[in-house]
Amino acid sequence: MIEFDQVRKIYHTSQREVAAIAELTLRVDPGEFIAVRGPSGSGKSTLLSLAGGLNLPTSGRVLVDGQPLSEMTAARRAHFRGERIGFVFQMFHLLPYLTVVENVVVAATEGPTEAIRQRAEQLLEDFGLTERMTHRPGELSAGERQRVALARALLNRPQILLADEPTGNLDPDNAQAVLELLARFHERGGTILLVTHHDRAAAYADRSLVLERGELVKSQVAENSA
Ligand code: ADP
Repeated sequence: MIEFDQVRKIYHTSQREVAAIAELTLRVDPGEFIAVRGPSGSGKSTLLSLAGGLNLPTSGRVLVDGQPLSEMTAARRAHFRGERIGFVFQMFHLLPYLTVVENVVVAATEGPTEAIRQRAEQLLEDFGLTERMTHRPGELSAGERQRVALARALLNRPQILLADEPTGNLDPDNAQAVLELLARFHERGGTILLVTHHDRAAAYADRSLVLERGELVKSQVAENSA
């Protein structure tokens, strides 16, 4: 479960002060798939980075499985994140000099052991990348790169996946393939926060949140949701 308790995030720059998250109270239940929508600059990426403890609130608290992220030491938070939370980004963020399988294994919080390598290979096989294991990211299509990034995010069997426009750089077929993999994670009980501009992506979610200027202006349960 992810809880935002009266969270505010203010960025100070030399010219101005921006309330990226103005004040947010929100609960994401275990196994829920939430789409986060809203115009550019509305605070979507900030919300995601706060949920994963990559960023800490200016005030208020973010709790994951009941544990307040800002009360952990940085090292503890990093370990907690590594074990429970997977991230995927629009720009993939793969390491260009490592092979595909190495890019997945690098996420391991322990090891790397033989079991971890096997888990990485299994994920890549499940994602249709068997032929690509020893290639480098530069030799892959965008869709393949995003599937590698997703395998990396799932390596440590996280319960939570935070995805920031993961289909933003993909053509419709590859976007669909990535969404199907997110749906599979969700079917197995995984919790997802998905930042997206695409109606088709949002259609996979149980609930859509809409942000405007750092405020939650809408929370809508999907029609097809139980
Ligand atoms: P979105 O993901 O919806 O595009 P963001 O969360 O990236 O929105 O940004 C929300 C607001 O916070 C924007 O006005 C943005 O310019 C500002 N912002 C985001 N990150 C920073 C930062 N590191 N420093 C200063 N301002 C930032």
